[in-house]
Amino acid sequence: MGCRTSRGSLFNKNSLRTVLRNEKYIGVYDAYGVHVEGGVPAIIDTALFQRVQNRIAVNRRNPARYKAHEKYVLSGKIYCGYCNAPIIGISGTSKSEQKRYYYACTGKIRTKNCTKKNIRKATLEKIVADGTVEFILNSPQRIDYIAHRCVELHSANPLPNTELVYLESQLADTKKALSNLLTAIENGIFTKTTKQRLSELEQTQENLEFEIESYKLRVPELTEKQVKYMLSQMTQRPDEPDDIYRERLLDCFVNSVHLYDDKVIVSFNLTNKKATLESVTLSLLKKATPAQKGAVCECSFLDLFGGDDGN
Ligand SMILES: [Zn+2]
Repeated sequence: MGCRTSRGSLFNKNSLRTVLRNEKYIGVYDAYGVHVEGGVPAIIDTALFQRVQNRIAVNRRNPARYKAHEKYVLSGKIYCGYCNAPIIGISGTSKSEQKRYYYACTGKIRTKNCTKKNIRKATLEKIVADGTVEFILNSPQRIDYIAHRCVELHSANPLPNTELVYLESQLADTKKALSNLLTAIENGIFTKTTKQRLSELEQTQENLEFEIESYKLRVPELTEKQVKYMLSQMTQRPDEPDDIYRERLLDCFVNSVHLYDDKVIVSFNLTNKKATLESVTLSLLKKATPAQKGAVCECSFLDLFGGDDGN
């Protein structure tokens, strides 16, 4: 209808919220620090206004209530291979009234300058997840390499340990106090109290040094064996649903995904000798083409673009 807000801008969902919460509609004048109930004519009755406030409060407590239950695990790291625009999750309803979920190019949706076909969410996520398992978890050389690099990085740059940091700062404080006291003694201040304080500080220093040493013994270095064990925990648990597993797996290993109509290029959080990300090209065609150079996956589970509701 061409209506604008009081400031002359277009209405958006935030202006609607402002309207729904504005007490001026129930007659409250509130400006320049003056608050008068009934100060302006009410155009909404208080009971209706209160029902709206209750509904807003309920919605705020359950933000996911009206949202899709489907989680698009590749969101945020998947891009169109043709126009480079981000790919997002969309849903639609098929002729048989079933809800269908896809990944779609935002370049195509917004500008229509791209012809990238939509792809079934479940199909793509399965291909990327299976490809990741094949490329990383099923490759003893890559597991060795990851374990080796983790230990290397950990020993070069260990995580700060709060307890140890605390003990070490206590030790530094104690040493400083001791040194101040010794200066005082050198300057001729020596009473019964100084003597007692001196032996207290010496005892504290000794205790802290002992605690620090035993703490270092209790916290062992990270070993390659430990990293390999952690990686072995990345396989799917028997009772773990596919979507939860894929999210866990892809969050950990997949850096980015470039999607074409006939293939998908998956880049991993893993660098090669040229310091670029390791990647694999997975075919999306029904008849898998011979795996491209560098690819380790033979994908034979491909069932894409089911014509009935593909676009
Ligand atoms: Zn595109």
